[in-house]
Amino acid sequence: MILIDGKKAAAELREKLKKEVSDLKTKYNKVPGLTVILIGDLTPSQIYVRNKEKSANEVGLKSDVIKYPDTVEEKTILNKINELNNDETVSGILVQLPLPKHIDKQKVINKIDPSKDVDGFHPMNVGNLSSGYESSIPCTPLGCYLLIKKIEPNLSGKKAVIIGRSNLNGKPMAQLLLKENCTVTVTHSKTKDLKAECLEADIVVAAVGIPELVKGDWIKKNTIVIDVGINKTDKGIVGDVAFDEVSKNAKALTPVPGGVGPMTIACLLKNTIDCFKRSQV
Ligand code: NAP
Repeated sequence: MILIDGKKAAAELREKLKKEVSDLKTKYNKVPGLTVILIGDLTPSQIYVRNKEKSANEVGLKSDVIKYPDTVEEKTILNKINELNNDETVSGILVQLPLPKHIDKQKVINKIDPSKDVDGFHPMNVGNLSSGYESSIPCTPLGCYLLIKKIEPNLSGKKAVIIGRSNLNGKPMAQLLLKENCTVTVTHSKTKDLKAECLEADIVVAAVGIPELVKGDWIKKNTIVIDVGINKTDKGIVGDVAFDEVSKNAKALTPVPGGVGPMTIACLLKNTIDCFKRSQV
């Protein structure tokens, strides 16, 4: 079984991006800039944002974090996004989710200029992705896609089963694999026989949020299994896949932690650089 090393893949991607930023600096005399808006003091969000900032600095991006207390008014955030939309030094804008309840998430996402939407959540980017056009792609599914392609460069005709249909993970993952000519099945909480669906798959992507849902006897030999889940349990952080059991059958499997997670941040940097490049033409 191939253990898919997300840390190593992310380090390789960051190295490539670092070189790209240096080349862009030579060509345009400026570097891509990422601005993150962080609202409130939720510890996981603070950790994510700190890691994003550290990685952005590592590859040479200009990086800013704008912090607000969780009592901030919605219109203050919308005005700030408007300002950043018009700021030429900002290539990418990310509003760290979740937001406090009094702030309308969709309003905030819709306010971001789609050409600076590094999360790929703006309806314009969602539409472009599903139409097969160039777009910002949500970072986690993009990371999963790059890991799958490392194992199997030609995905044409493969059967992919995606567990979960969130806008963040399952749906964009389905679009990416469809574009690669996979036959894609998207499953969810109302799917009748998830095991039977998985047993048909050459590729399984689990993005559910249920610890070790996917069992060893759900996976046929030679399947690539990507575990997006991050679940806190008594025995520590585990994924949506029962790692020990599934590793006996799978052709390749991502560990949790150290699989998809590191790729997510690296893909955010990639998206920022891609937004910058598109803005220069
Ligand atoms: P989400 O928005 O809660 O969506 C979960 C999806 O799973 C829903 O579509 C739900 O179906 C489906 N589901 C629930 N129970 C199911 C079952 N028994 N069988 C089949 N499908 C079922 O979750 P998410 O935001 O996509 O996140 C999923 C997991 O990924 C979480 O553990 C999260 O922490 C993790 N995550 C990891 C990263 C990373 O960087 N590695 C990034 C983001 C998220 P319905 O639509 O029918 O409700």
